[in-house]
Amino acid sequence: MTMGCATITIDVDRDVNLPEYGRIEGISRARDGDKAPRFDSAAKGLKLIVSVLNDLGIKGTFFIEAETAKKIAEKMNIKELLKSHEIACHGYRHEDLTGEQSGIKLSDEQVSSILDESVATIKEVFNRKPIGFRAPYLHIDNRILAALAQKGFMYDSSIIKRLDRGEIYPYRIYGALIEAPIASGVDRAGKKIVSYLWPLHEGQRNLSDYEHLISRFSAGLFILATHSWHLIESYDFGLLPEERIAENVSWLRSILKTAIDLGIEFCTVEEYLLGKAGD
Ligand SMILES: [Zn+2]
Repeated sequence: MTMGCATITIDVDRDVNLPEYGRIEGISRARDGDKAPRFDSAAKGLKLIVSVLNDLGIKGTFFIEAETAKKIAEKMNIKELLKSHEIACHGYRHEDLTGEQSGIKLSDEQVSSILDESVATIKEVFNRKPIGFRAPYLHIDNRILAALAQKGFMYDSSIIKRLDRGEIYPYRIYGALIEAPIASGVDRAGKKIVSYLWPLHEGQRNLSDYEHLISRFSAGLFILATHSWHLIESYDFGLLPEERIAENVSWLRSILKTAIDLGIEFCTVEEYLLGKAGD
C-alpha cells in the first residue's frame, strides 16, 4: 500500500520548443526553415491527454504557457476542456528565465512583468488563479524562486529530485514557496531515469523503464511530467504518423494504469499541498 499520491503534470507549451541564443522567448523546432512558434500539436495532444485522464478518473496538473493558452482558446474551448483539472503557470512565451541558453540576463522588472502577464492571461482564459509554476526548460534559480514567492505562488515544480528509498516530498524552498520536485530514480541497469516522459516519446526509453520507476515509489508526492505536443510531434522524427500517435496515447495510459494497479492514488499538486488529496 502506498502512502502518497502521484500527479501527472502536463506542460502545455509551443510545439517542440527550444531556447535560442539571443532571444528571450522559445522557438519551435524549425520546419522547412521556419522556427516561428507553432501550437497545433500542443492543442491536438492536449485533447488526447485529457480524454485519457478523464477516462481513468485522474485529475492532472497542467502547466500552461500563456501564449499557448490564448492560441488554443482561439480554436477550442480550453476552459471547458480543463475544467476538472488544475491550471498552473508555465511562463508567457516560454521564456528562458535564467538566461542560461538565451544568453540574455533579464532584469528583475522583466521577470516580474513576465510573471504578472502570464498569470493575468491564464486568469482571463480560465477564470482561475494559478498557484503553481514550472519554469520553461526547468531553468530556475534563487532569483526566480524569490520572484515566485513574492508574487504569491504557492509552489514551484522545476527541480528534479531523487527518490530516497522510494520516498519524495514537497519541501520549503524560498520563504513560503514550496518546491514540488519532479522525481528521478534508477532503471534496472542502475542508470538514472527522470519521470519526464520525453525520452519515451523520442524512442530513447521503453515503457517498462517508467513502470519500473513508478513501482519504486512508496511515499510522498510522485510527479510525472510530459508535454501535450509530444504525443503528436517529436524532435527527432517531426510530425508523427497516426499509428505512432496512437502508440504514444496507449503508452501514457499504460503508465497511469500501472500506477493505479499498484494502488497509487492520483491527485493534483494543489490537492496534495492543500491536504485535499483523496477527497
Ligand atoms: Zn515548456
